[in-house]
Amino acid sequence: MKAAQGNILILAQSDAEFASLESSLLEKGQNVQSVTSAELETALASRIPDLVIVRLDDLDSASLKVLEARSAASSLLPLLDSVGIPAMHKAMKLGAVDYVELPISDDARQEADKIVSLLDSLRQRGHDRVLRDSETIQKLKQQAEELKDRYIAQCKSFNESQDIFYLDLSRMMSIIDNIRDGIVFTDPDGRVTLMNPVMEHLMGVKSIVAIGKRLDEIDCNSELLSEIATDQKLSVLKGSVSERTLEIHHSVQDLVYLKLLTTAVTDYKESFAGILTVTKDVTAEFKSEQMKNQYLSIVSHELRTPLTGIKTFATLMARGALGELEETQQRVVESIREQALRLEHEIDKIICLGRIESGDFAMDLEVFTIVDLLDLVTVPFEQAAKDRGIDFKFRLPDLCPLVRADREDLRRAIQALIENAIKFTPAGGSVEIFVEDSDDYVEVHVRDNGLGIDQRYQRRIFEKFFQVEDPLTRHHGGAGLGLSVASGVAVAHGGSISVTSELGKGADFMISLPKFDMKELTETS
Ligand code: ADP
Repeated sequence: MKAAQGNILILAQSDAEFASLESSLLEKGQNVQSVTSAELETALASRIPDLVIVRLDDLDSASLKVLEARSAASSLLPLLDSVGIPAMHKAMKLGAVDYVELPISDDARQEADKIVSLLDSLRQRGHDRVLRDSETIQKLKQQAEELKDRYIAQCKSFNESQDIFYLDLSRMMSIIDNIRDGIVFTDPDGRVTLMNPVMEHLMGVKSIVAIGKRLDEIDCNSELLSEIATDQKLSVLKGSVSERTLEIHHSVQDLVYLKLLTTAVTDYKESFAGILTVTKDVTAEFKSEQMKNQYLSIVSHELRTPLTGIKTFATLMARGALGELEETQQRVVESIREQALRLEHEIDKIICLGRIESGDFAMDLEVFTIVDLLDLVTVPFEQAAKDRGIDFKFRLPDLCPLVRADREDLRRAIQALIENAIKFTPAGGSVEIFVEDSDDYVEVHVRDNGLGIDQRYQRRIFEKFFQVEDPLTRHHGGAGLGLSVASGVAVAHGGSISVTSELGKGADFMISLPKFDMKELTETS
C-alpha cells in the first residue's frame, strides 16, 4: 500500500457510489477524509485539503457558503448528476478544476485513478507556481538591490551637488559682501531679501533690520532709500532698467555721487522675481570731471580776453588803421587774425559746453522760425563752400513751424554741423541743408556726400573731445567739441541729435526740436 500522499476531503453522502470511490482512493494510498455537511466548516478550518469532492446537487446553502469561503489552495471536484449549463455555471462559480459525471462508472477504481492523476497535476502546478514565485522573488530582490544601489548613488551625487551649490552660494555671497557697489534686492512683494554691507553703510541701516521689510517700512531716514524706492516702483510699472546719477548727502561723508541702476529680474520661468538695485560710487570720477570742467572754463575765459585784443589789433592792422603794410606784412597780419578767430571759435565752444554741463543753459529763449535762423547761419558758408568746390544747397519747407529756443546757441549747433559737412566733403561734392516737419517736431538736416563715418564711431562722435582716428579726417583739425555742443544744445531744448552715415558715402546729421505752439504763448501771458 502506498503512503498517504495528499488530502482529499469528501463531503460524504449516503450514496453507495461515494463509499466505493472513497475506498478506491484509500486503496491508492490517498489520505481521504469523509465528512458530513455539518462537519464541513470545522474540517476546512482545521486543514487545507488538496481536493474537495462534493455532489453539487445535494449541497445545502450553508455548505455552499463554506465552500465559497474555502482556501484557494483547495481545489474542488464536483460530482454532477447532469452536465448542463446551470450545473457547469454553478461549478465554475465555486472554482471547480474538473467534474465527474454521475453515476460513477461501474469501476470506481477507474474514477479513482483519474482523480489521483488530477491531484498529481494539481500538485505539479502548485510546485511550478512555487518555483515561479521563488524566481520572481529572486528577481524582485535583485531589483530591490539595484534600486538600493541607485538610490545610494543618487544620494551621493545629490550630496555632492548640494556641496557644490553651497560652495557656489558662499562664493557668490562673499562676492556680494565684498563688492564695492551697493546691492539691494526686493522680492515680488517689495520686501528686502538681500542687502550687502556697502548698501547698509549708504542707507545707514543693518540688513538684519531691513530684511523682510518693504523699503518704505524701514525706519532709517535715508535720502538714498527713498530714491531707490521711487526707481523700484517705476521699474515694476515699466518692467525696465533705469539708470541715473544722484547727489546724496551722506551722514558720515559729505556729498556722494552715486550711479543708481535699477532693474526688474525674472527667474528661469520668465516670471517676475523681484527688483535689483545697484549703486556705484562715482564721486571720484564726478569730482575729477568737475575739476576738469572748471579748469577748462577758467583757462578758456582767461584766454578769451588777450585773444580779443589780438583779434582787434590784427583787424585794425589788416585794415591799415595803424599804417600801410607791405604785402608780406599784410599776409602775416591776415593770418594772425584768422588764427585768432579760429581759436576764439574753439574757446566759445568750450565755454558753451561748460554752460550746458553746469545746467545753466537755454535761458535766453525766443520764439522764431528755424528758416529765419538758417538764412543767417548759412550765408557765411556759401562762399567757403564755393571756394572748396562744393555745391551748397539750402532747401526751404512749404511751411515752417516755430521753435522756442536760445537763438545764439541754436545757431552755434547748426553751424557746427555745416562746418563739419564742408570740412569732410571733398571738392566736387555737395552739402544740402533742409528742414522737415515731423508731427510735434521740426527736423533740421545737414546732409553731405563726403567721407562719411564708420559705423563703429557713430555713437561716440557726440562725446566731448572725441575725434575719429582716421588719417582722412584727422588732418582737418578741430578739438572734437562741435558735435558735443550741438548735441548738448539739442537736448537742452527738449530735442535730440542723430546721424545716418555710410563710410565713403557721406553723412546726414539731424537736429530735432519740439515745435512751438502759439497757444502756449497766450496761455502763459
Ligand atoms: P571736430 O571739431 O574735431 O570736427 P566734432 O565733434 O565736430 O569735432 O566731430 C567729431 C568727429 O566726427 C570729427 O572729428 C569727424 O571725424 C567726425 N565727423 C563729424 N561730422 C562729420 C561729417 N559730416 N562727415 C564725416 N565725419 C564727420
